[in-house]
Amino acid sequence: MSLPTDPAANLATLIRCPSVTPAEGGALSALEDMLKPAGFAVERPVFSEDGTPDIENLYARLSGNGPHLMFAGHTDVVPVGDAASWTHPPFAAEIANGEMYGRGAVDMKGGIACFVAAVARHIEKHGKLKGSVSFLITGDEEGPAINGTVKLLEWAAGKGEKWDASIVGEPTNPEKLGDMIKIGRRGSISGIVTVNGRQGHVAYPHLADNPARGIVTLVEALLSPAFDKGTGDFQPTNLEVTSIDIGNPATNVIAAKATAAFNIRFNDTWTAETVQAEIHNRLDRAAGRRKLRPGRKQPIDYEIVWRDRPSHVFLTRDDRLIETLTGSVEAVIGRTPALSTSGGTSDARFIKDYCPVVEFGLVGQTMHMVDERVALADLETLTQIYERFLEDWFG
Ligand SMILES: [Zn+2]
Repeated sequence: MSLPTDPAANLATLIRCPSVTPAEGGALSALEDMLKPAGFAVERPVFSEDGTPDIENLYARLSGNGPHLMFAGHTDVVPVGDAASWTHPPFAAEIANGEMYGRGAVDMKGGIACFVAAVARHIEKHGKLKGSVSFLITGDEEGPAINGTVKLLEWAAGKGEKWDASIVGEPTNPEKLGDMIKIGRRGSISGIVTVNGRQGHVAYPHLADNPARGIVTLVEALLSPAFDKGTGDFQPTNLEVTSIDIGNPATNVIAAKATAAFNIRFNDTWTAETVQAEIHNRLDRAAGRRKLRPGRKQPIDYEIVWRDRPSHVFLTRDDRLIETLTGSVEAVIGRTPALSTSGGTSDARFIKDYCPVVEFGLVGQTMHMVDERVALADLETLTQIYERFLEDWFG
């Protein structure tokens, strides 16, 4: 029986599966073929929802006596873009100058390939684990993320699965392996504000309500003052206005409506609810301050619609998980990674409801780009870091 101890071989197999969301592309089957010889019980639940494509997922567990570690991630990849501009074809896993090229090389088939190799090496060395390891892998991270990690967690928990800690293998390092472990993420909410005016002739503004004045006032109130100064663990909360629209081509017409879209990334000073309440307060105050046209007494007539579900802010406080992973990075490459909460959201925001979670994987520089690639040396080093983590966390 040969175990999948070589991360480069594992990665080449995965890259050759063209698993652009929502296609499985053979990637989960390839992963299943790697995990089964190592003793994993593999399940492949498919989730569906109206209006979204069916998605294949994978949950694999190797059971032992002791704590339960979950490795989480995704085998789906973003589209290749202009295939002709790749130096090496995006699904060929060709190697040049010590780097393997391919879509998903770092985001995040590479992370999966390394963790599989680490577990395989651990088993080869020790015979078995002092606990359980599971792989929670979705094919819907880069897409709408509806039939992926959220449902997979619910499904597994519904069968009685419980986890003590989780590592997500996303590419967390900005420049070099060992730069950064992510221990939390800011929350995120998007909304659209609409000001209702009254259409009319620009020469007769007293007969109209110009919503342009209203939207400018409300946008100003969204942007300042600053929401906070940041915390010890997080950057300051930041709101960006992403669009202001009236869509009126005529210069002699006052339009009836104006809208502004925004997204706010908030730190642990806030919850999704309190930050929404703050935004409502700001808008209400601003709406009462300014009149839409001379002589008008009513406040600005506006409404706000929140888009999608909010992503909640989280910070992992499991010292043992963080210290063990930091120690593994230090032991293998002699560098101390920064503990960060920067960047966008990831599936860790869902996992945090079930167990403490941190993120650590490859270097993210080429993710989503043409010529996505990974240094073979990084694959070996990350495998050794994961291997060391398994030794120490289960030890
Ligand atoms: Zn990813």
